Amino acid sequence: MVDPQLLSSITAVLGPGGVLTGDAVSSRSAGWISRSSLKAAALFRPRTTQELSAVMRLCHAAGQPVVPHGGLTGLVEGGHASENEVVVSLELMNQIEELDEAAPSMTVQAGVVLETIQQTAQARGLLFPLDLGARGSAMIGGLISTNAGGNRVIRYGMTRNLILGLEAVLADGTIISSMYPVVKNNSGYDLKHLFVGSEGTLGIVTRAILRLQPQPRSQNTAFLAVNDFASLPKILNELNAGLGGTLSAFEVMWNEFYRLVSTPPAKQHPPLPQTYPLYVLVDALGSDEATDRDRFSAALEGVMDKGLAADCVVALNAGERAGIWAMRDDVDQFHQFRPWFGFDVSLPIKHMDEYVKEVRERLNARWPDNKAFVFGHMGDGNLHLNIHVGPGDEESRHGVESIVYGGLVGRTGSISAEHGVGLEKRAWLKMCRTPEELALMRTLKQALDPKGILNAGKILA
Ligand SMILES: Cc1cc2nc3c(=O)[nH]c(=O)nc-3n(C[C@H](O)[C@H](O)[C@H](O)COP(=O)(O)OP(=O)(O)OC[C@H]3O[C@@H](n4cnc5c(N)ncnc54)[C@H](O)[C@@H]3O)c2cc1C
Repeated sequence: MVDPQLLSSITAVLGPGGVLTGDAVSSRSAGWISRSSLKAAALFRPRTTQELSAVMRLCHAAGQPVVPHGGLTGLVEGGHASENEVVVSLELMNQIEELDEAAPSMTVQAGVVLETIQQTAQARGLLFPLDLGARGSAMIGGLISTNAGGNRVIRYGMTRNLILGLEAVLADGTIISSMYPVVKNNSGYDLKHLFVGSEGTLGIVTRAILRLQPQPRSQNTAFLAVNDFASLPKILNELNAGLGGTLSAFEVMWNEFYRLVSTPPAKQHPPLPQTYPLYVLVDALGSDEATDRDRFSAALEGVMDKGLAADCVVALNAGERAGIWAMRDDVDQFHQFRPWFGFDVSLPIKHMDEYVKEVRERLNARWPDNKAFVFGHMGDGNLHLNIHVGPGDEESRHGVESIVYGGLVGRTGSISAEHGVGLEKRAWLKMCRTPEELALMRTLKQALDPKGILNAGKILA
């Protein structure tokens, strides 16, 4: 329930279309992961930074907790809202303001969907390199707030590396404009990074200047079967050396994941037999079709000649490439095993094999019928584990989390490579951050949001 006085003040700022209450709120989804209905007291839809600033000033004065929403594809309950909270959705701030071909860069409002940004850049011969399965729904404000990674980090970096300038509104309505369209700017603290990856707890991202790259003129994709984990880093190094910096994805799949996404009801057919322990999707983006294809073939030949891969298929056209990538992106198949617990951890490649084996052994010991699907952006040290152990009660969730996160201790791993902490991983944060780091995070939160109204309880309890 929102204070009626506050509601009417905010309606005066946003107009009736900018304020949703009652059924208009509860008929909306709470997000991709929960698939339940939204429980917030009200939902506000500003159209400009100034409107959002006015809304936040009013909420701050009233001590009203606020949860920012983008495309609701987040995977860690970062957008969870209770009946006492209001949601600020950036969905109407969906304008592309400028595309500067000289820089090259694109200035966007926070509510622009990733796919729209990709297509707009592409139409001008440019590339916004961020890419992930949720591209059709995730908004740039949400992607920035979670510092999303995705499929091309190995080549272009995380979202943090793709942002030149940024604008955000603080909990008290203050507008922080760091909209500098240049790569180099060492005039004091780089404030935009406070808002990248802080999951809406320090400010609401309203606009950004995105760094664009030349559109690649060639793409080469292959799918390899591999007999042992020890060969994978060797393949990665071989391709990195042979492809002259064009390697853009190195996505590993353990056998169980590959079988899941290449067996009905999954739509894709297996491009290689389903009998190998490991598979890797490799992708290279280059600038010259003929020479890149020859170089890609030569690099793969090197891998095969050295006996590092057991089998290999190269995508001969865009359709075959899309088919291979569709397997990698087909995370909907996990829904066959509801409930499932999803993890995105990171750890050094040298520890990965031992870590995965240890997690499996411990799961098998407690839940012999478990299903554990492992895959991920191995080139970035990032593994996804999706685990089903039967009933999804809190005790089994905690047990699975103890196994997955416990195995990271002593291996310099992180409980979140890319999805963030939200509510879901909050209790485990202390396993991968020092007390001093956590204290500094609290100091920052206190300084920027002293009343604790912005995405309260996310990341830090
Ligand atoms: C099929 C699928 C595949 C995915 N693949 C990947 C992947 O490969 N790599 C990866 O990193 N992630 C992946 N994700 C998850 C990823 O975190 C989200 O897709 C995305 O980053 C969140 O954007 P969103 O607009 O949906 O934000 P939301 O889900 O709406 O919000 C996410 C968080 O950001 C906050 N937030 C939203 N907008 C703002 C804003 N403007 N200002 C401040 N805070 C805000 C919210 O409060 C919440 O804490 C995947 C998700 C799905 C469903």
